[in-house]
Amino acid sequence: MLKTRIDDLIRPEITALSAYPVADAEGFIKLDAMENPYSWPENLRDEWAAALRAVEFNRYPDPAAAQLKAILRRQLALPDGVDLLLGNGSDELILLVLLAIARSAQTAVIAPEPSFVMYKMLSCVAQCRYVGVPLQADGFALDMQAMLAAISRHRPAAVFLAYPNNPTGNLFARAEIEQIVEAAPGLVVIDEAYFPFSRASFVDDLNRWDNVLVMRTLSKSGLAGLRLGMLLGARAWLEEINKIRLPYNINSLSQAGAAFVLRHEHVLRQQVERICADRERLYVKINSMDGMRAWPSQTNFLAFRVVDAERVFVYMKQRKILLKKLHGGHPLLTDCLRVSIGTGAENDAFLEALAAAAVLG
Ligand SMILES: *Cc1c(COP(=O)(O)O)cnc(C)c1O
Repeated sequence: MLKTRIDDLIRPEITALSAYPVADAEGFIKLDAMENPYSWPENLRDEWAAALRAVEFNRYPDPAAAQLKAILRRQLALPDGVDLLLGNGSDELILLVLLAIARSAQTAVIAPEPSFVMYKMLSCVAQCRYVGVPLQADGFALDMQAMLAAISRHRPAAVFLAYPNNPTGNLFARAEIEQIVEAAPGLVVIDEAYFPFSRASFVDDLNRWDNVLVMRTLSKSGLAGLRLGMLLGARAWLEEINKIRLPYNINSLSQAGAAFVLRHEHVLRQQVERICADRERLYVKINSMDGMRAWPSQTNFLAFRVVDAERVFVYMKQRKILLKKLHGGHPLLTDCLRVSIGTGAENDAFLEALAAAAVLG
């Protein structure tokens, strides 16, 4: 029987997984995935299309993405000796790091929880032993005692820290991350996916330690569809990880498209500023509603707690507003939802519907 064959062959931890869930957003105001809600001015879209038109689709992409990397190197102002490796989104880079370090089923990987779900899922794929360490219940700071105890007990080959953290939106204390770096026997990967919104970074510190890598992505500032992540660190680390990267992981359209956009980066920067201002407005409004509490955020989303997350989530969905239900994902996220900052009109629709949900109790 097919089922028996599958169970005989596929690793049991894979059959136990669920594929990454993506909600069908057709017809919804989509505030569930931390996307930049703004599109580009028409004239720039035409120029962009012209740049893409010149791409030779019949040829393989440049495996080194040299032109794009040169632009990125300049914009990132990397310290001496620090280089970058590109991934098909930072998701791919997380997997590459894990595949490179996975020696045996004993290889431990640590991340605080709740955090970005791919650390756990890809640890399973790479056959590492994942250990989640709960954050503090009120405000989601690192529980340093628990982190240091877990590091000394499990001797992790890698620690993943999202800075700022997803799905909670807060920045961990810099001094605590430094303490973790110094205690860690292996790599510490600092995932700065929300850097455009927080402007807080460890890139300038990369030369201080020999066990730190920083990850960035263009997804959250506005290019989620292009899939472009960056791993930054000492060239010697990246050379090893580069050996397991599939040769053409950044396709020609992404290379040409991203290069064009980065030459017009001011457009993204203005959109990011607008998103940050709107985030502060939503933060104040949500906190003024009965039974609702949002946490401060350094990202393009807000995590907030309501009286009954399931009910509010369903109500918002009826009003055609798609949020992310955090409730059920982790005990610290009981009755929590997450909203990505949308356009002005989308945010207004969200606030109006949420106020109605608050009144319904
Ligand atoms: C969104 C996100 C990513 C994934 O980014 P991609 O480049 O789109 O794969 C990585 N880390 C964190 C913390 C994120 O929130």
